[in-house]
Amino acid sequence: MVPKDDLERVRVNAQKAMALMEERGIRQTPHNYAIWYEYILESNPDLTRAVNELITQHGKYTDKIGLELYERFFTREKEGRVIQETSRLVQKSMESMMGNLNESSANYTAYGKNLNSFAEKMEGLSGPELQGIIDEIVSQTHSMSGNTISLQQGIDSASREIADLKRRLQFVQQEAYTDSLTGIANRKCFDAELAKKVNEAQERSSNLCLIMADIDHFKSFNDTHGHTFGDQVIKLVATTLAKGIDSDAVAARYGGEEFSVILPDTELSEAVNIANDLRMAISAKKLIKRSTKKEVGKITMSLGVAAYAQRENALAFVNRADQALYSAKKSGRNCVKHSEPALSR
Ligand code: GH3
Ligand code: MG
Ligand code: MG
Repeated sequence: MVPKDDLERVRVNAQKAMALMEERGIRQTPHNYAIWYEYILESNPDLTRAVNELITQHGKYTDKIGLELYERFFTREKEGRVIQETSRLVQKSMESMMGNLNESSANYTAYGKNLNSFAEKMEGLSGPELQGIIDEIVSQTHSMSGNTISLQQGIDSASREIADLKRRLQFVQQEAYTDSLTGIANRKCFDAELAKKVNEAQERSSNLCLIMADIDHFKSFNDTHGHTFGDQVIKLVATTLAKGIDSDAVAARYGGEEFSVILPDTELSEAVNIANDLRMAISAKKLIKRSTKKEVGKITMSLGVAAYAQRENALAFVNRADQALYSAKKSGRNCVKHSEPALSR
């Protein structure tokens, strides 16, 4: 049973979360509630920071921000549940396999004992008696071979089950790291991958670059041609980015119409060239509206590049690439700017 004190604390925090949501005009959806409850608890500094940053960035909290945050911070629970469930099922398969093995090892022992006793009995037997014993041996051997076949079948089916579970687990992990609209890496994957690459760059003193990119005047695609068309633009940009990089680089949808590319073992000048190639590949795309089959303008992008500076944390690194992106926007868009190496030291 949950102690009374804990229940009281849950009740107080739930009330605080609802009051805060009410005060800020936030809709009381399950997603929003989960986020603001956690926010009140202050138990997850990453979530608190993300909520504050997104509100500053967008002026206010919207359901869309809520969904983005929920996907980032709460879908891990689903992943966790599947992992737990899978491990329970694998355990069950193993138990049944062990059961089969134990049973047949007991059968083998009994079979061995019987054979011994038959051998002892066989001395000095008459023909019909011997015939009787042989019949008995044949029948026991036959049932033993049946046991072996069912043991083999049991093992086969358990190993098939385990292989299935392994595939299911891989699928869920893959799904948790994939952006559902574009099919490229999502923000959660980006965060995990960047943390890994920053560690590697620190350990090996190797080069690491980051590109932050944002579609120019994207709002006007939505406003002029509708949200679905806007989604198509986002998809086209995502595939162009993913196709335009090497296999060891990672392109991710950072959020909304913003993207990021992690470039391991890449120097700043090289990363700036890659960013420019990506920029040109995107602006070369013909945008055709399905309903009218007419060409509708071009997509352009602004990109900011930063090279990892030793001992810098991932957040500071992202911020520098973001500042470079901001300066690309200020310089008229459809261009690449980089964070000065001097600044990064
Ligand atoms: P800028 O050149 O300064 O980047 O201008 P912008 O219009 O691209 O940027 P702004 O931040 O003003 O607008 C981005 C818009 O992107 C607002 C938001 O409604 C839209 N958006 C975000 N996510 C999605 C999405 O998944 N699909 C669609 N269709 N629109 C989205
Ligand atoms: Mg933007
Ligand atoms: Mg934009």
